[in-house]
Amino acid sequence: LPTAESVKIVMLGDGGVGKSALTMSLIRSRFVDEYDPTIEDSYSTTRTIDGRNYTLDISDTAGQEEYRGLWASQHLNTADAFILVYDITSHESLEALDYFDSLIVSAFDVEGSKKPVKIVVGNKCDLASDRRVTSEEGLGWARSRGAGFMESSAKLRVNVEETFALLVKRVVEAREGGGVR
Ligand code: GDP
Ligand code: MG
Repeated sequence: LPTAESVKIVMLGDGGVGKSALTMSLIRSRFVDEYDPTIEDSYSTTRTIDGRNYTLDISDTAGQEEYRGLWASQHLNTADAFILVYDITSHESLEALDYFDSLIVSAFDVEGSKKPVKIVVGNKCDLASDRRVTSEEGLGWARSRGAGFMESSAKLRVNVEETFALLVKRVVEAREGGGVR
């Protein structure tokens, strides 16, 4: 069997933004309309990207405020990459990413520790008539945090594979370039 490189990914963002829908879209290749909002689980899938095999281990979080801090300190700093999800129809969900990014920053705030890859995803781009966050604002937020940016629709399966492919490329760059991001 060909060897596969492991990429450990954590989904973060407010409840209801579509973290589980994006995860299921990638793992099961289908949109799950109603996914239990309390389920927090890990999933594994494989992809070949630029001719190389990867095992993607994805943690789909569903934290309540009370245990987020605990969970974060135990799990965040072993991740290679984060997907920070907001919902383009909710400006509050973009603002909530400040909190999630601060968790990442503090988890990796150790001298000499590697910097994780971050991809910001504006999900539900199929709901264009209810849009409250412009693409420019989402992109600006992402850039200011050193993150990549995509807009997706888990429902229509727009930019789901592309988001994970972008993430993997950035993880590979970070590993092989040794660059700080
Ligand atoms: P989570 O709490 O972040 O895991 O969010 P879920 O994945 O459970 O999704 C919350 C709700 O948003 C569900 O009713 C989903 O069907 C819906 N949803 C998720 N992604 C999309 C999307 O891309 N487009 C639309 N229209 N609805 C979505
Ligand atoms: Mg969920």
